[in-house]
Amino acid sequence: MAVYVYKFGGTSVGSIERIKAVAERVKNARDQGNQMIVVVSAMSGETNRLIALAHDAQSEPDTREMDALISTGEQVTSALLSMALREIGCPACSYTGGQVRILTDSVHTKARIRSIDDKRLRADLESGNVVVVAGFQGIDEHGNITTLGRGGSDTTAVAIAAALKADECCIYTDVDGVYTTDPRIEPKARRLDKITFEEMLEMASLGSKVLQIRSVEFAGKYNVALRVLSSFKEGKGTLITYEESQMESALISGIAFNRDEAKLTITGVPDLPGVASKILGPIAEANIDVDMIIQNIGEDGATNFTFTVHRNDFAKAKALLDTICEKLGAKKVISDDTIVKVSIVGVGMRSHAGIANTMFKTLADEGINIQMIATSEIKISVVVAEKYLELAVRALHAAFELDKEPCES
Ligand code: ADP
Ligand code: ASP
Ligand code: MG
Repeated sequence: MAVYVYKFGGTSVGSIERIKAVAERVKNARDQGNQMIVVVSAMSGETNRLIALAHDAQSEPDTREMDALISTGEQVTSALLSMALREIGCPACSYTGGQVRILTDSVHTKARIRSIDDKRLRADLESGNVVVVAGFQGIDEHGNITTLGRGGSDTTAVAIAAALKADECCIYTDVDGVYTTDPRIEPKARRLDKITFEEMLEMASLGSKVLQIRSVEFAGKYNVALRVLSSFKEGKGTLITYEESQMESALISGIAFNRDEAKLTITGVPDLPGVASKILGPIAEANIDVDMIIQNIGEDGATNFTFTVHRNDFAKAKALLDTICEKLGAKKVISDDTIVKVSIVGVGMRSHAGIANTMFKTLADEGINIQMIATSEIKISVVVAEKYLELAVRALHAAFELDKEPCES
């Protein structure tokens, strides 16, 4: 008997009709003799609605209460799906993350899963029930409700699949797989039959929100067979796989982008040892994650220092940097929250020179100025003005011929 974890995202459970369609799909899979665990997201728009309410109630919402609030979205959907399953004669039972003991650390709004007690899940499956679990949430050792960060239901699904050694974890969403880039930005984007964990991890961490980063990390680490497919359209979707079994031999597999970044520069900083830590130390102490960093070559004893942060942290980082600027006797702070990061990703990059040059030339031909560059073994990222996002993605998609099937080497 095969064990499947199915996860349905917000759009897939966005109305009672859609929840009923999900119930039919799950019942069919169970009728074929499979044991089914279903993880659900909040109905589309619900998490955002709850977050907005929190900000109306408290200017800087308490994170413990925020988790108590936003975890309710998923709880609603799980109960409704369980009812819809029972309605069509399929035995089902819903649980919150806390009830199935998804134990996490206590970092509210971005908690990490520590362990899952699979006893209850297994007992319920053995008794013939479909087990419906509210995604995105857990409980810490003190009994507080926690949430796993935006998009966290993907991670709930993969973690349960790992704990139960499920045959496959199927992420049902509003696209029929992982594409060469977000099909909302480039309609010519092509669905990939397979993508490696490594590439998917880069794509996710560089902004492709089709899977939460942690879900990909978990799946890679615990060897979970992970597939992304559509709730609305039949098809095999995209399998996330290990490199050996990858058939396609493209140089570049995909283009990711991130609209959530903002850039800060401090100019005229004395070019002395310890300056980087004097600038970034207070930023780190304020729990602000820094992404890209550039320090220019010093001239006449002074240098410029630029870094990017999440847009949510922009105002806080700017205020801190103004104070740092004064303390260091630096010249001024320049800030810009109208930037985006565009990245090309591919394991093929390892063995091919000239990819960076193609990227830079393509952007130059479109008149797009590159403000920052960062590279690693399988990715190149650039920061450009926000207004060029679509143009940059489409031009790069065409330059690397991502709309065409790669030839096998
Ligand atoms: P869900 O609510 O089901 O979790 P998400 O909105 O989190 O769905 O993720 C699906 C969305 O991810 C798609 O609608 C698509 O716009 C976006 N997306 C971004 N990059 C990609 C990509 N490379 N391939 C497919 N979808 C992508
Ligand atoms: N509902 C949560 C969110 O919108 C979690 C999820 O959908 O995965 O981020
Ligand atoms: Mg999602």
